[in-house]
Amino acid sequence: MTSVPTAVHDEQHIAARTQPPVTMSGPDFPFPYDDFLAHPAGIGAVPPTEHGTEVAVVGGGLSGIVAAYELLAMGLRPVVYEADRIGGRLRTVGFDGCDPGLTAEMGAMRFPPSSTAFWHYADLAGLSSSPFPNPLAPVTPSTVVDLKGETHYATSPADLPEVYHQVMHAWNACLEEGADFSAMQRALRERDVAEIRRIWSALVERLDNQTFYGFLCDSPAFRSFRHREIFGQVGFGTGGWDTDFPNSILEILRVVYTGADDDHRSIDGGSRQLPLRLWEKAPDKAVHWPRGTSLASLHDGGNPRPAVTGLHRTAGNRITVTDATGDIRSYKAVVFTAQSWMLLSKIACDDALFPIDHWTAMERTHYMASSKLFVPVDRPFWRDKDPRTGRDVMSMTLTDRMTRGTYLLEQGPDRPAAICLSYTWSDDSLKWLPLSAHERMEVMLGSLAEIYPGVDIRKHVIGNPVTVSWENEPYFMGAFKANLPGHYRYQRRLFTHFVQDALPADRRGLFLAGDDISWTAGWAEGAVQTALNAVWGVMHHLGGGTDLLNPGPGDRYDELAPVLLPED
Ligand SMILES: Cc1cc2nc3c(=O)[nH]c(=O)nc-3n(C[C@H](O)[C@H](O)[C@H](O)COP(=O)(O)OP(=O)(O)OC[C@H]3O[C@@H](n4cnc5c(N)ncnc54)[C@H](O)[C@@H]3O)c2cc1C
Repeated sequence: MTSVPTAVHDEQHIAARTQPPVTMSGPDFPFPYDDFLAHPAGIGAVPPTEHGTEVAVVGGGLSGIVAAYELLAMGLRPVVYEADRIGGRLRTVGFDGCDPGLTAEMGAMRFPPSSTAFWHYADLAGLSSSPFPNPLAPVTPSTVVDLKGETHYATSPADLPEVYHQVMHAWNACLEEGADFSAMQRALRERDVAEIRRIWSALVERLDNQTFYGFLCDSPAFRSFRHREIFGQVGFGTGGWDTDFPNSILEILRVVYTGADDDHRSIDGGSRQLPLRLWEKAPDKAVHWPRGTSLASLHDGGNPRPAVTGLHRTAGNRITVTDATGDIRSYKAVVFTAQSWMLLSKIACDDALFPIDHWTAMERTHYMASSKLFVPVDRPFWRDKDPRTGRDVMSMTLTDRMTRGTYLLEQGPDRPAAICLSYTWSDDSLKWLPLSAHERMEVMLGSLAEIYPGVDIRKHVIGNPVTVSWENEPYFMGAFKANLPGHYRYQRRLFTHFVQDALPADRRGLFLAGDDISWTAGWAEGAVQTALNAVWGVMHHLGGGTDLLNPGPGDRYDELAPVLLPED
């Protein structure tokens, strides 16, 4: 997901940070997933008669693995299907022939402290983390902003020219005037549900038809085209903004309100370890299963089942799953976590799986494209000093050239390191699509040579580049969802589908989860939150429930349900 200007803050935003932490619970469904997970009463139970019941989980990404882990802990028997590899968009890869500890994050690579449900599982899995070197972050030695051929070197925001500060002030003013920013952040920090709902209901009604760019244009603070252009091209946080300009402004507001783009940390050793460790880990307090039972131990050969190729409803309110080996099994409950477009193309489905309005919502789903390319290098040579200027010879780089964002990732002074030469979204990503990894690298090195004419990056490269374009990955077809204007109602249908009591009995039992279903697509937190909703849905469907002291997302649904906009 793209950035917000977090590197530079107005005083009011600094003041807001001294208060209780903001989390990614809300504003659409302000359920405290972190408190729910931490509660000693646990997250619910199914009747003993259901112990051992098989529940299919389609997709072994974070959402599927979290759902399966919790279903296992409840005494159910998750059957996980995975078409590609465990981890999904938490895809950490190595470089052929290089130090195995040197890795590249092809999908998610930085996680905000506000993604508290995500960190619950990262802690459970015993993972450690480190600050991520975003532009102008305290851990980043230096940042270069290169725009229209003009290059600015900065070790702190104060080093940037005045126009960048004007842009930052314009953005903060625009958020304040157009979206009640401080009041919403205060309400989120204080978990003041009534206030969150009061502010958000009005905004959803007013802004569902508005693009991000339209929102900027409507703001007196962003009257200047030049300011909008600078903001779009380099932003002030983790990268440029303009590839998000056509998206719904509601998507952007969710990110800024909830601190999703603030104070990022990376997972040491790579984010894919999280689903892999949960796959191997026996839940401490699992019911029914012998001690030591894990997802891996419940699956033949310790591997998930292969891709699902068919899903249909069969008599007795069952859902029947066919996989790539031709194996057919029928379940009382299925959790589906892959991207929704899979249901439109790669999986044979019958219409009865979902109400028609839900199919419409899935068909209208809009994904951002995204490409990345990493190269391994011999050492963090960028910290060498230019004898003439005394500056780092190369820096984290934001530019309007093809590369857009270049990140420098080190493991220690004399150890091999990696450069993410380019991280792009949407149209900028499509520009790379037809190029091979080596062709991409050549263009990227060419762009960077314009910015750093005296630096021979190539002489430090010690292995082949690794690259991805998520829109070209058969089991993904896009990087992450980003709603367009007018999509609020679609998102609401998908997100709320886990509460099924109002559906006819023959339309229940299939639960959607994952990035597409979440209100904060592009952030792993949403994959976790929607997994927990689906777990609640399965538990409820099988006649179980939560402890009265720790009500779950479905128990509090009427109180917290997302704003309902009229359909007529
Ligand atoms: C480029 C990029 C950058 C990102 N950056 C960040 C970031 O910095 N921070 C952050 O928090 N989040 C980030 N995200 C988002 C984060 O990666 C996702 O929210 C999260 O990983 C989604 O998990 P999921 O389980 O919902 O989906 P997925 O990880 O996509 O899992 C779904 C799984 O379903 C499988 N599947 C597909 N079809 C089938 C089938 N027919 N049968 C069986 N299995 C199937 C897929 O192979 C996949 O493994 C990023 C994502 C991308 C792509």
